[in-house]
Formats: sequence, structure tokens, C-alpha cells
Amino acid sequence: MLVLVANLGSTSFKYRLFRMDENGGNDIAKGGYERVTDYAAVIEDALATLQRDGIIGSPDEIDAVGFKTVLGKDLSGCVIADQKVIDALEGFTAVAPAHNPPYAAGIRQFEKSLPKARLVALFETAFYQWISAASAHYAIPRAWRDIGIRRYGFHGASHKFIAERSAELCDRTDVAEIVRRLYLDGPQPVSGSALRVISCHLGGSSSVTGILNGVAIGTSMGFSPQSGLPQNNRVGDLDSGALPYAMRTLGISLDEAERQLTKESGLLGLSGVSNDIRDINAAAAQGNADAQLAIDALVHSIRHWIGAFNFELGGLDALVFTAGIGENGSDLRAAVCKNLEGFGILLDPDKNSACRASEAMISDDDSLVKIMVIPANEELVLAREVFRKLS
Ligand code: AMP
Repeated sequence: MLVLVANLGSTSFKYRLFRMDENGGNDIAKGGYERVTDYAAVIEDALATLQRDGIIGSPDEIDAVGFKTVLGKDLSGCVIADQKVIDALEGFTAVAPAHNPPYAAGIRQFEKSLPKARLVALFETAFYQWISAASAHYAIPRAWRDIGIRRYGFHGASHKFIAERSAELCDRTDVAEIVRRLYLDGPQPVSGSALRVISCHLGGSSSVTGILNGVAIGTSMGFSPQSGLPQNNRVGDLDSGALPYAMRTLGISLDEAERQLTKESGLLGLSGVSNDIRDINAAAAQGNADAQLAIDALVHSIRHWIGAFNFELGGLDALVFTAGIGENGSDLRAAVCKNLEGFGILLDPDKNSACRASEAMISDDDSLVKIMVIPANEELVLAREVFRKLS
């Protein structure tokens, strides 16, 4: 099955073409466009390029297109991308203004450009469909809940991949199979002992998810991607009382406050240096106290959520790091795992510092909890889910 994964940003379009079968799959082509103003033109150009380069004989050979949609109103899961997906995306444009409009436009265009292909949307919220009501709901008035304000969670494709791969690395093929079929069959009971995993997706955007027997029980991300851990330039969790106080005291409008919370906050806001942890590390090493504070606040927040899910899961079998910072940041991983021997979490410093962006077990042989680095590959995850959905 030929699956085209379409990654649509507010001004970009990237694609990867995968050949998938029961044993997995590989990408056979990729490309992208920046500063996009006309999605129709770049999508047509991408299809023409694939044909001209001899990757496909004709666009009709593409069996399916996968979209990593972010947040839909009253809709989640891995679903056929039809009008109801477009309606759900448009229903939450105000919450995900950078993400939802390009995906709605992209789905419409692929319906025209590839009329024979099956279109599939995998919502980033899909992995959290089964979290408890207690974990999902904020203590807000009924009218706020009725307009859809609740915890949704994001990075679902990445955390679900971690759920599957960590189960394999723990020799729990039964749980890995539950994860593979999760969007087809829903959660399933396990016959052996429970498998308890905490997945830390740490990148430009970050979140921590607790996973029991392959199913998410909770996540640090809430209603919008402006929640949870300090993000690159987005705020993360903030006391709701701070917003009206800042607006009144600084004399700024709601739009300006939103701009500052989404563009000038997070690691950038705290450090005053950069939204990239590499620059912040370099500044901290030169003695910049604000840069050090940004790193410390990120580590503190990661540990806060690990602690919460460790408790909620009743213990832990595997702690996993993934995404740009999680895969590369050995110092940050060491800071996260510091002084947790009492919880059975013991890092091997040599294995940790040797690991850079490759799959590795970095725990000490005496650690009760397996500590792992698993590289993220969200496009492949999407291609797999599309293949599973359609086969
Ligand atoms: P992602 O969103 O997963 O692509 O992660 C992007 C982030 O990963 C960047 O903003 C960097 O802060 C971080 N990153 C990438 N490479 C490295 C590296 N070699 N060391 C530390 N952090 C890195």
C-alpha cells in the first residue's frame, strides 16, 4: 500500500511517501515547501514531482493519504478524513489557529487531487480517548464544559509509538499487540502483570504521558498546546488568575496577552536567550542565571509529571525519553533522573552520555525501572496507523 503522509503547517507543506505492508514499511520519497500561500499549487506540484522522478507512474497509484490532525471539536481517533473531520477542525480553529486551517484546506485539496485515494486523519488527541473523566475535566462551570473545555492531550502519535516500542523492549509482546490494535479494538485486558510506562516527549513542544497496559491514563497537556511543561516559546501550565492580573496591570489586550503567552513565553520567556535548548545550555554554561532557570524549570516540571504518573500507575516498569531534547539531551536526562533511586530509577551515567539520538537502554543493571531512549518517527507512525486502519 502506498501511503502519502501530509504534514501541513501554517506556511509549509511537507510530505513523505511510504510503501507499507504487514511487516512494516519504508519511506521511498519525501519533499517539502516553505512559505506556502496556495496549498492546491504545492500539492499538485508534489504529485507531479513524484511522477516526474519516476517514484510513481501516476498519482492514482497512491492508495491513501494520512493527516496528523491536531484537535477536533467533538471528534478524535483515527478516522476517515471526510466532511465531519473538516467540520471538527473548523469547530476548533480558535484553539489551534496555526494547525487546523491548513489541515482542513489540505484534506479538501487531496479530495480533488487524488479522488481515488482513501484519506485518513489521525488526531493528536486520539491516544487519550480512554483517560478517566476525573483526569480529563477541569473544575469549571457546566457552560464552559459544554463548549468543549477539557483536557485533550497532544503528541498522541508519538506517545502511542512509545507505548508499542517500550512494550516490545520489555518483552511484552502481548501489550505491544494491544497498542497496535488500539484504534481498532479499544483497550484490552492483559493476562499477566500490568505494564506501567511513563513517556517523556521532549522537543520544541513537550509532554509527559502515563501509560498502563498500552493505554494512556493521563497526560501533562491539557485543553490546548499552551499547557503542561514549559514549551519552546509557549507558556505551559499557568494559574488562570495570572491572565487577568497581567492584562490589567500591564494594560495589555487579550490578543496581546495571548501573543505573549504563545510566542514569548516558555523556555524563551524564562531564559531570555532562545527557544532552543542548545542555545540555552550554552548560555547557562557561560553563567547566565536565567538560562539555568529555564533548564531547571523544565526539569522540575518533567519530574513533577513523572511523580504524578508514577503514583497514579502504582509504580513504574519503564521510563522513556523521546523527541529532540529527550533523544539528545543527556545532561537533561541525568537531571530528570537524579536522586530517584528510592523509586527504583537508576541511570547508568556512561550509557546515558553515550546515547545520542539512537535507541538505547540507559538504566543501570540494578535499576528496577528500565530507562530507555526511543527516537520519534511521527511520519512512520502515521503511515502505520493509516495502513492498520485501511487493512
Ligand atoms: P523536536 O521538536 O522533536 O524536533 O525537537 C527540537 C528540539 O530538540 C530543538 O529545539 C532542540 O532544543 C532540541 N535538540 C535538537 N538537537 C539537540 C541536541 N543535539 N542536543 C540537545 N537538544 C537538541
